[in-house]
Amino acid sequence: MHSGISSRLITALNEKLHEIGLTKSTIQKVKPISGGSINDAYALITAEQSFFVKINTAKNYPSFFEKEQRGLLLLDESSSLTVPKVYFTGVTEDLIYLVMELIVPGEMKSNFWEIFAEGLASLHKKTNSQFGLEYNNFMGSLVQKNDFRPDWLSFFVENRLQDQVKRAFDKGLLDAILLANFDQLYKKLTNLLPEEPPSLLHGDLWSGNFMVGEGGEPVIMDPAIYFGHREMDIAMMHLFGGFDRKLFAAYNELYPLQKGWEKRIEIYNLYPLLVHVNLFGGGYLSRLKAVLKRVI
Ligand code: ADP
Repeated sequence: MHSGISSRLITALNEKLHEIGLTKSTIQKVKPISGGSINDAYALITAEQSFFVKINTAKNYPSFFEKEQRGLLLLDESSSLTVPKVYFTGVTEDLIYLVMELIVPGEMKSNFWEIFAEGLASLHKKTNSQFGLEYNNFMGSLVQKNDFRPDWLSFFVENRLQDQVKRAFDKGLLDAILLANFDQLYKKLTNLLPEEPPSLLHGDLWSGNFMVGEGGEPVIMDPAIYFGHREMDIAMMHLFGGFDRKLFAAYNELYPLQKGWEKRIEIYNLYPLLVHVNLFGGGYLSRLKAVLKRVI
């Protein structure tokens, strides 16, 4: 009956749902939800209400969902964007899970992109004394290093590029020539990346991480938050597309980006490209090489 979820996990989830008082009824149906790249996801359907659960193995990432929960809560507190309510995380035997509000997809409101822009600008206006975060979190399934730095350039180079470059080199995915190219790039970046106060970022804002909510509003999920340069989010939104131009136009009115932001997109996207190389292998390498060649 419960495809993909063991009956033990169903029992544990039912107990927790009752304990917290979220529902008095029990899970009647479990529907797989596709689209994620790291976790298994399901809709849990009870007679009263439905929930969304993400599941992974405890062995690989014991703190994975606690970090995701903290990220979602901070996003919710810090912006006007809709974020799914997080109910609880837990462990059952070798599995970890995160239960939250089930978002039922709706039809985009006519001013969907403007609302999105406003919410994103409100998030980016939340600032901090330094770049980074009190704890490391995850980008996909990779640890994302968030050690505090007082300036954006050193944060981006040390915690975003060098960390992933080292990982890729150790795995044999990058050769010595590419390593030397990255060293050249680091020297050039001093003149290419303008400083700004730190902004709270979603951190993994590609089109698979937002949905259209039941009321037609944007809903964001699956974050990899930290205080960084807001052009990181803007760049990530351009990596695979899926965000309307209206969003960037409205955002630029509300919280103008510094001149030349379009040109910096590919520099900032070296980070998600490196993450993709590390997660999914060499297929993304040619794109990475092409960007490096253009920039250095
Ligand atoms: P992963 O961490 O594996 O990338 P996601 O958080 O992106 O997983 O979720 C997988 C899919 O489930 C997404 O494509 C999204 O469409 C959908 N999804 C995510 N959160 C919810 C939610 N709260 N309610 C309904 N669907 C969701």
